Amino acid sequence: MPKTEHWSWYVEQFAPTEQHHHAIANVLFSGRSQYQQIAVIETPIFGKMLVLDGDTQSSARDERVYHESLVHPALAGVSERAEVLILGGGEGATLRETLRCPDVKRCTMVDIDGLVVELSKRYLPEWSEGAFEDPRARVVIGDALAFLSEDRDRYDVIVSDLTEPFPDSPSHTLFNDRVFSMIKARLAPGGTYALQASTASVHNAALHCKMARTLRKHFAFVTSYFTHVPAFDTDWAFLACSDRVDLSALEPAAVDAYCARLRGENFFYDGITHRRLFSLPRYLRRMLAQSGDTF
Ligand code: SAM
Repeated sequence: MPKTEHWSWYVEQFAPTEQHHHAIANVLFSGRSQYQQIAVIETPIFGKMLVLDGDTQSSARDERVYHESLVHPALAGVSERAEVLILGGGEGATLRETLRCPDVKRCTMVDIDGLVVELSKRYLPEWSEGAFEDPRARVVIGDALAFLSEDRDRYDVIVSDLTEPFPDSPSHTLFNDRVFSMIKARLAPGGTYALQASTASVHNAALHCKMARTLRKHFAFVTSYFTHVPAFDTDWAFLACSDRVDLSALEPAAVDAYCARLRGENFFYDGITHRRLFSLPRYLRRMLAQSGDTF
């Protein structure tokens, strides 16, 4: 291992006084699309990583922790799974996880950035594992907001795998009451909307709570869950929204029965993991119960 000073570093800046440094073993791509700054790098510990606007999106080492958590609780909790819509999801791993479920007849993925999708196919094929070529996949390169405005189909599950809604991000327009109403209108009765929903760490859960509070205006059950994602260097949270099912009450045996239907083996998610994902610490339950601002 070379001495520290011989490495170049990718520095993820969490706050003015907080950083995580990843040594860079190789830069596969670095450039700008019409929408965002894109880097595909290799690091000694996490392997290949996709970085957008300076934020880690996923790493080879632990992307299954994130993508299985994002996709499978929502699919496990519904009885109809034929039609799935993914908003964002550039790497193709959310598509991969969705299409591992044989009940899914069509999965539409809408990502604004064709360059992220192309680079993911070229440099990160382990993420999609052929999902882009699956005949059940329909990939739309376009703004999810425009898609939601024009689309008239209904989906059993909608998964939002968008970048964080920071003011300079192309996802910024997708976190508000108008868009959450549009998403709800596209859900089939009893359908579930699952989204990646920022961090749930003790020092940094405000954005997550704001998302949850806003979504509670639209859905009867808005359930937070989270897991530690090492490449993100934090606890990462998700939200599962439904008018019919509280996913935190899903029995481990029901989750395992769903998982047994999937093609191939899960790395992370099963009945026991489900229970752990949805067992929230007291600080977070208290923060989620407090009133506060909404989008
Ligand atoms: N795991 C991620 C994270 O931690 O933020 C999200 C992964 S995925 C790479 C995010 C995708 O959202 C990107 O490919 C980006 O192009 C897409 N995206 C951002 N804004 C969008 C929009 N308005 N419409 C569709 N896709 C969008």
